[in-house]
Amino acid sequence: MNLVEFKSVSKRYRLGELEVTALEQVDFAVARGDFVALTGPSGSGKTTMLNLIGCLDYPSDGEIRVLGQPVNQLDDRSLDRLRSQTYGIIFQNFNLIPVLTALENVALPLYLHKLPKSEMDRRAHRALESVGLSRFTDFLPDQLSGGQRQRVAVARALVTEPKLILADEPTASLDSASALSLVELMKNLNREQQVTFVFSTHDQRLLSHVDRVVELRDGCLMAAADTQLHAEADSTAMATGESEVA
Ligand code: ADP
Ligand code: MG
Repeated sequence: MNLVEFKSVSKRYRLGELEVTALEQVDFAVARGDFVALTGPSGSGKTTMLNLIGCLDYPSDGEIRVLGQPVNQLDDRSLDRLRSQTYGIIFQNFNLIPVLTALENVALPLYLHKLPKSEMDRRAHRALESVGLSRFTDFLPDQLSGGQRQRVAVARALVTEPKLILADEPTASLDSASALSLVELMKNLNREQQVTFVFSTHDQRLLSHVDRVVELRDGCLMAAADTQLHAEADSTAMATGESEVA
């Protein structure tokens, strides 16, 4: 089953008299284990699409299903529950709380899950370990580099063991070496722990590390740019012998 499915999803914003179309009839799906980058120039609809994937906003038209459930039909409580059980979010500006240690920052989302303190600590330790920051549990955000802070933000997104991690331009405030190392970290988590990621970036250099690149232009998905669709089409063609040159 797909984790998230879009069927002909459009999103329009009203600005006084003006209507802005941010997404136009987008068909899209994320399956378990996917590693997807959304690309496209500024204003192409990346943030809008991530907000819709994360159920932070409703579409104007079309249908969105999360874990098979049509989002439009859920009441607020069911939607809250679905959100907290499904998603982890990495914020662009880390959003770490300055007076809390790395461990405490990572444990924060677990308060909503009402776990015993010992279990919260155990999970937070494990999440920090999986991003290579075991030695930094007691450090405050100020005592960490930008790249390390972003790793803490990744650990915080992982700690609830979400089905899908979303990140809107997670590398935007990093230098290029830290940006690359963040993408490699996410890629390793994807490969080794089957964590599913959808993130946006307009950094072309990062895309060679991504399994599936989905490109937006003026709110439309460039179907031909979805590298996974290509791969599937190619393998079908191969299986049926269509790609053979006579
Ligand atoms: P990106 O993240 O690729 O830069 P966005 O999803 O933020 O693109 O924006 C897509 C389009 O929707 C842009 O034209 C933007 O101005 C418009 N837009 C986004 N959010 C709003 C909003 N809350 N109100 C009005 N227009 C918006
Ligand atoms: Mg954006």
